[in-house]
Order: sequence, then C-alpha cells, then structure tokens
Amino acid sequence: MSHSSSKMTRRNAIKSGSALVAAAAIPGLSSPTMAASHVEMSNTIPSASGEITVLPVNHASLVLVAPGLTLYSDPVGDPSLYADLPTPDLVLVTHEHGDHFNVDTLRGITGRDTPLVTNPAVFSKLPEDLQARATAIANNNMLLFGDMRINAIPAYNTTPDRLNYHPQGRDNGYVLSLDGATVYIAGDTEDTPEMRSLTGVDLAFVPMNLPYTMDVDQAAAGVLAFAPKVVYPYHYRGSDTAAFKALVDAGGKGIEVRLHDWYS
Ligand SMILES: [Zn+2]
Repeated sequence: MSHSSSKMTRRNAIKSGSALVAAAAIPGLSSPTMAASHVEMSNTIPSASGEITVLPVNHASLVLVAPGLTLYSDPVGDPSLYADLPTPDLVLVTHEHGDHFNVDTLRGITGRDTPLVTNPAVFSKLPEDLQARATAIANNNMLLFGDMRINAIPAYNTTPDRLNYHPQGRDNGYVLSLDGATVYIAGDTEDTPEMRSLTGVDLAFVPMNLPYTMDVDQAAAGVLAFAPKVVYPYHYRGSDTAAFKALVDAGGKGIEVRLHDWYS
C-alpha cells in the first residue's frame, strides 16, 4: 500500500503527461526485445519501491528508469538511439562538451515540457525554447524535483596539464536521491576531494579516459575512496576497464564493478 501511494505522489509531482506513459512502459523493460537490445546483464539496483534500471546508451549518455520516474543524463547523438526507451521525465546535462550536450538531441528526444537541469554554463548556451524549461544548478547547490534531491557535485580536472578541459567551478556531477537510492553521475572529472568524500552511494558512473578525465588507476583509487555499492565505468573510450575492475576488486571493499560495452 505504501508503495503505490509513493508512486502516486511521484506521478502527481511530475507535470508532464508523458510520466504516465513512462511508468506504464517499465514492465516492457524485462521483455525479450528490450533485454536483447539494452540489458545484457544485471542492470538494476534495488530501490525503496522497486528497482532502478540502468540503460547505458553510449559513452556518457545514459538512462535511469526508477519507479515512476525516467531520467536521461547527457543524452547526445541521433534521437533514434532513444526511440525504444521510456520517455524522459527529466534530463540532466553535466557540461557543455559535445559528447554531453547537443541541442538537436535535446529537441529530438524530449517533449515540449520536459524539464532540463544543467550547469549554469550550459544554461547560458541553450536556445530560448529549451532555456524556458531548464533550471541551472551551480556546484555545491541542491534542488528538488518532486521528492528527488539533485545535488550538483563539482566536476573538474586537478592535473596541471588537463585543467583547461574542465576548469574548476564550471561543470557538474550529480548526486540524486532516487526512490531511496543514492546515485552519483560523476560527469567529466578526476578523483576530486568532493568525489572522494561522498558517502552512501548505491550506484555510481565514473569516467576514465585521457587526457580529458583520468586513467584507470586514478579512477580506481577515487572509487575505492568513496566505495559505492555498484560502479559503472562510463565515458571510458580506449581505456582498459578490465584493469579498472581488477584494481577495484583488489581493494577489497566489496564494490561491484559492472562492465558494460558502451560503444557497441
Ligand atoms: Zn567534457
């Protein structure tokens, strides 16, 4: 009973009519068709009223389907990539680089009213129609979407010869309280003090590729510091994710590393 009432609260909190479509589409995720194309392994984590399903799209683009809420993070690429996925209730953008932010994709995959949450730099680059439904959130700030908290975690380079890629103060990672689970989408970052000091993370997405973010050793060290329950390497083009997993496993913290092919 409490489960269904919490779902109703979520649905009522979401303005767009597409939320009901998205919620209704969730059972389809376990159908053979969806499983073959998008879910090749355990891609769920438990949440308060069910589970959260991770749908990796490509590189840094991902979809999370929680009870009553579908969220896209950094969707780029041809809108057809998203055609079989549940409609987004909310879209997050971490920063302005082309592998994270694309106006045509945002227009192609979202409805007229789909809300966007971005960092301030992306907000200032949005055309008027998208800006009208966007909210900017700066580093270390928090906003609420229904009963979900969205915390903007600083995402930046710390190595001297990489500082120009993601200067401190501009780009976001996000920590979400999603149906009772804590989800960290790191964005493009190194293993900053802010990442290392996170606690209670159930599900994390961490980048690794040089020169833009960090190598697998640095990523593994950062992940061992904040010890999420489950971590997906993403944004890892050309990196040895098996080596990352071996390093995290060797750390002995019981972190589940999920290696998904984000480039198929
Ligand atoms: Zn970037």
